[in-house]
Amino acid sequence: MGDCWLKCNLCAKTAPLDTMKGKCECGGTLLVEYDLEKVKTTFTPENLQHRLHNMWRYHDLLPVRNEASRISLGEGCTPLLRMNAAEAHLPLKELWIKREDQNPTGSFKARGMSMAVSLLHERGISKAAVNSNGNAASALAAYAARAGIEAYVFVPMDCPPLIVEECMQYGAHTCLVDGLIHDAGRIVEEGKAEQHWFNVGTLKEPGRVEGKKTMGLELAEQFGWRLPDVIVYPTGGGSGVIGIWKAFRELREMGLIQGEVPRFVSVQEEGCKPIVDHFEELAAVRHGRVHSPAESEVTSKPTGMRVPSPPDPQLLVSILREMNGTAVAVTSEEIEDAAKRLGAWGISAAPEGAATWAGLIRLCDEGSIHSEDRVVLFNTAHALKYLQVSTPNPMHIVKDYPEWRTLIR
Ligand SMILES: *Cc1c(COP(=O)(O)O)cnc(C)c1O
Repeated sequence: MGDCWLKCNLCAKTAPLDTMKGKCECGGTLLVEYDLEKVKTTFTPENLQHRLHNMWRYHDLLPVRNEASRISLGEGCTPLLRMNAAEAHLPLKELWIKREDQNPTGSFKARGMSMAVSLLHERGISKAAVNSNGNAASALAAYAARAGIEAYVFVPMDCPPLIVEECMQYGAHTCLVDGLIHDAGRIVEEGKAEQHWFNVGTLKEPGRVEGKKTMGLELAEQFGWRLPDVIVYPTGGGSGVIGIWKAFRELREMGLIQGEVPRFVSVQEEGCKPIVDHFEELAAVRHGRVHSPAESEVTSKPTGMRVPSPPDPQLLVSILREMNGTAVAVTSEEIEDAAKRLGAWGISAAPEGAATWAGLIRLCDEGSIHSEDRVVLFNTAHALKYLQVSTPNPMHIVKDYPEWRTLIR
């Protein structure tokens, strides 16, 4: 395995990986760098064919040094499905959906937390905390449990109840916060000195981006090292976008992919769309004036996309520009319709995944999708995590077939 270190995306200053920092003093984001000349000697399409069927198959391009440090629950290698039935309704060539809902803990957050927890485990760190809209919390809970690390998770009090239950099922200290994700983040930061927990919040450490990077590596491999034309991704804190972009950059530098990179589309919900706003106010962003919606302005549903103050919006906007991408906001009604639409095709789409369908429809209506485009939607979580469980409707309960017959009449 090649060496790796941290490098600031803004000032290019480097730091050892062991600092485990996420941010540079200059305000930039620290990302993991590899000796790609060396990685490329082992990271080959031929070698990959004989490797593990999970995200650790890409180990030479990941920051965990020892195999024994890997904390895995079988994350990654999720199905990439062709959506034939949907194609008939759309002005494009091919539509695919990446089923991130099939990960352990039911969301792509498993990839990031597998990596982050492995890095902590490798360094003998025994206590971790995170603020989250839910899926990062339950992923930390599961991977920490697997590693024997104590987990403290802080989620907004309107977090989907099943996700809260899930965190407790894995034995995490689980706290509901009267506020939004950044209020929960303040608690994690304030408690750090006294509780000695390691903060694995978005861009607070280098591991989660590297875990999410495996989505991009996997997509390239699944498509036979030919990338799609458009990727539609639901965006909150933004480490998913950063990870996928980084994957393509490294693959290109190693000569494994050629040609255009996909146009990257970030989707957010109308009631909380800082990335869409930043993208539209580029000039303001360049002068460091970025608008985050005030708490009272946030009206979107409690999903992974609801992040009013993402930690590095400038980096996200520059990635979207570099990738000829865009950012679109969709309404909660459009998201609900989209979830039903995908459900009718057998796809269990969380609101975030459904938002990508809604975003795609918008782009088609605007004419920014072309008839030759191959498009990939990311279904980032399983719909079941968001269900509001209710008692069965007595009208649906029967004792025998004759009674059922009276029901359907
Ligand atoms: C966290 C989350 C997102 C947003 O991902 P980021 O990488 O934080 O931008 C999207 N969908 C789901 C299901 C999530 O849990």
